[in-house]
Amino acid sequence: MRLACAVVGLISLMPASLVPAPMMGDAPPARVTILYDAFGDRAGLERDWGFAALIEYGGRRILFDTGNNGDVFARNVRALKIDLRRLDFVVISHRHGDHTGGLTYLLSLNPGVRIYAPYERFGLFGGPVPTTIIRPDTSLPARMRYFGGTVPTELSSSTVWPRAHFVLVDTLTEIAPGVALVSTVSRTPGTLELHELSLVLRTPEGLVVIVGCSHPGIETILEASRAYGDHVHELFGGLHLVATPDSEIEHIASALRDHWRLDLIAPGHCTGEPAFDALARAFGRRYVYAGLGSVIELH
Ligand SMILES: [Zn+2]
Ligand SMILES: [Zn+2]
Repeated sequence: MRLACAVVGLISLMPASLVPAPMMGDAPPARVTILYDAFGDRAGLERDWGFAALIEYGGRRILFDTGNNGDVFARNVRALKIDLRRLDFVVISHRHGDHTGGLTYLLSLNPGVRIYAPYERFGLFGGPVPTTIIRPDTSLPARMRYFGGTVPTELSSSTVWPRAHFVLVDTLTEIAPGVALVSTVSRTPGTLELHELSLVLRTPEGLVVIVGCSHPGIETILEASRAYGDHVHELFGGLHLVATPDSEIEHIASALRDHWRLDLIAPGHCTGEPAFDALARAFGRRYVYAGLGSVIELH
């Protein structure tokens, strides 16, 4: 006890910058670090098209997406001194290469980590496929029938990461207390039927939503998040407005501010330059810059 008091006394005399970090308090970090994106001016990091972020909240470390190029991802992670062997779990938002490119590097460091990914039939992440999709014709000779006429109840779809511990999700799922995955499906030509997961944290200020590309539409994702909490406090990630006409961008920016009443917005990746501009104007001081290497505290 006397020793503890002596240490406290010593620390109170030290300038704040010299106080060892663990003595500053017991609160775990609450922040988002952008590991991969095509904009940002932090020295020592490499810009490329794609997205990855480390989310630290409630004592958990969650990797969201893995960027486009495994080597660039590895270099950025090392430059930021992020230890990918210490993760509670990983979330892959969707199957596109600019979000999955670093998966092989991640698995080389942390082969046993649980990876949540969207469920799609015969999708990139494997998983079971029900054989009810096969309509039988019993009049055919056995050699013309699938599996000689005795079809298994399930087929297994392969993946290029067969040893990864994927957990496939296709509905709103709470994966830890206060942490949920929201599952949505794109209805947009070009990405039709693409399944996407978004990460949602429940905080005292409301929901913090982290999106990959928002292919199903950001408002569709926010609508689906409502089942987990009525107010979205802060939004991170790609809003996929890169090629959207200005009038539609203005409409979405207004909706995010006035209808969804987001307190803060931290857009990145495929949000697009005209949308960065529109959102910065709509949100003013509540627009949070989230370029590559940004470390954004969660309040
Ligand atoms: Zn995408
Ligand atoms: Zn993307």
